[in-house]
Amino acid sequence: METVNVKINGISLDVPKGSTILEAARLAHIEIPTLCFLKDINEIGACRICVVEVKGARSLVASCVYPVADGMEVLTNSPKVLSSRKQTLQLILSDHDRKCLSCVRSGDCELQKLCKDLNVDDETFYEGERNHYDLDYSSTHMVRDNNKCILCRRCSAVCEHVQDVGVIGANDRGFATNIACAFDMGLGETSCVSCGQCIAVCPTGALYEKDNTEDVFAALNDPEKYVIVQTAPAVRAALGEPFGLPIGTNVQGKMVAALRRLGFDKVFDTDFAADLTIMEEANEFLDRVQNGGKLPLITSCSPGWIKYCEHYYPDMLDNLSTCKSPQQMFGAITKTYYAEKMGLDPEKIVMVSVMPCTAKKFEITRDDQNAAGVPDVDISITTRELARMIERVGLNFLALPDEDFDDPLGRSTGAAVIFGTTGGVMEAALRTAVETLTKEELPNPDFNEVRGTNGIKTATYHVAGMDVNVAVASGLKNAKELLEEVKSGKANYHFIEIMGCPGGCVNGGGQPQQPANIRNSVDIRAIRAKALYDIDASMSIRKSHENPAVKKLYDDFLEKPGSHKAHELLHTTYVRRTINTI
Ligand code: SF4
Ligand code: SF4
Ligand code: SF4
Repeated sequence: METVNVKINGISLDVPKGSTILEAARLAHIEIPTLCFLKDINEIGACRICVVEVKGARSLVASCVYPVADGMEVLTNSPKVLSSRKQTLQLILSDHDRKCLSCVRSGDCELQKLCKDLNVDDETFYEGERNHYDLDYSSTHMVRDNNKCILCRRCSAVCEHVQDVGVIGANDRGFATNIACAFDMGLGETSCVSCGQCIAVCPTGALYEKDNTEDVFAALNDPEKYVIVQTAPAVRAALGEPFGLPIGTNVQGKMVAALRRLGFDKVFDTDFAADLTIMEEANEFLDRVQNGGKLPLITSCSPGWIKYCEHYYPDMLDNLSTCKSPQQMFGAITKTYYAEKMGLDPEKIVMVSVMPCTAKKFEITRDDQNAAGVPDVDISITTRELARMIERVGLNFLALPDEDFDDPLGRSTGAAVIFGTTGGVMEAALRTAVETLTKEELPNPDFNEVRGTNGIKTATYHVAGMDVNVAVASGLKNAKELLEEVKSGKANYHFIEIMGCPGGCVNGGGQPQQPANIRNSVDIRAIRAKALYDIDASMSIRKSHENPAVKKLYDDFLEKPGSHKAHELLHTTYVRRTINTI
């Protein structure tokens, strides 16, 4: 690798040619603060927080985009640099709704931290004119508050360049510049897919999920209600982060203990329904292969992906699996089978889901998601909301003992837990489909070709005399690339897994936010995914069709995968939607 020699704050070091000053400084263990910069997503050098002095340059330069050169001398913390950063922050605060006491991001807001670190006085420019914006509550899943927006444009970059949706961007000019949708439509009127990736990258409290924590507390305090919670696989790999645990710590046991202490009547695991999904989806795949059905079959667990398909690829709706997502299957089974078994009135059950995903808030409102004549799922909260609930009631999360899920809907397999990461649904389905086709036990249930955080992964497996071509995509821009290959006939896949968020649910829009300096230096997706693969490897049962509770469900109630009853309760339909973007 070709290197150049630079001096940063007097320290001489060799760094790869082509590095930015920001990257070079990190090699010298110097962290230059940033605000708009997000590696590979938003590299526009606009906010001027990362400015540094370069000997010989006429003005301060933005280190996130300025490349190093041999012999370059850089100062990252000179009085001139610090004063410039401070003034930039004072100007940002001059048009900022400073409500740190009640702001959802207080404590993990990147703007708040910078102001504190740089000892910023928030009164300097606060007397002048300010913008006032109405909050946008129009979408099902999130709120936009431009009064706290700092115009960093991370949200519009991720929406357009990572998710290929592009429904938010900068409107107007100069002091009036604001982030909005075309023609000032509400977000809910656009073809936003509810993925929440914009929330995940926003450094401030300008974007946040619609908070349903008070609805959950109200249900828990209602003696008439029987409140059941289900938790998605990816939640356990991230819930520890707001409590100071390292990224990717598996906190399943503490999470269950916390939910029990919050007062839920039953603490169940969405993983149970992930196993059930595999039973139905593998059966659907084999049926389509053997009976000439529409291929490729494309997975349907990710509601952000489903909404994207409905808006942007309505001609491919027949390719979608008709399986409801695990969240919805779980609700359907709880309010039918479990209610019947326990003598509970489905009307009195409140089904709460804890999800890494904001699109799940949209999914619970979809038509055709009420198997028992009442909504399959009543309230969906994100991992972040659960963390806030735990904090609100004063639970010492770190001191909680490890506890187990309740039976029988808390029983699951290794195949189910890897649903939380890109490639996991495919791997789980392959474990079941291959054993069903060959009628032989797999010598090793790992399908390593579909693991990892690459945006698109492909593989061919030789199964029972047939070459099965599979593909996996995460992040909607990658999904688009894959779908275009399929539509053009360039690729011939039998089975495709698509997850709306890059890296899958572990990186969902409802997961705890990590600041840009962490996002820029470690692969959060891979670390959280490893937690799930470790759980899978440690489990005694790793294939969905071997889950004893799922087998009993079929024996006692559903008869067999794909049965009339299974179709009635666990399958759904899709709708064509229009496109409204910027
Ligand atoms: S966005 Fe940050 S600085 Fe602004 S009110 Fe919220 S916590 Fe405070
Ligand atoms: S939720 Fe997703 S699609 Fe909607 S604005 Fe945010 S990034 Fe774009
Ligand atoms: S909404 Fe958030 S991410 Fe988008 S420009 Fe404003 S501060 Fe940046």
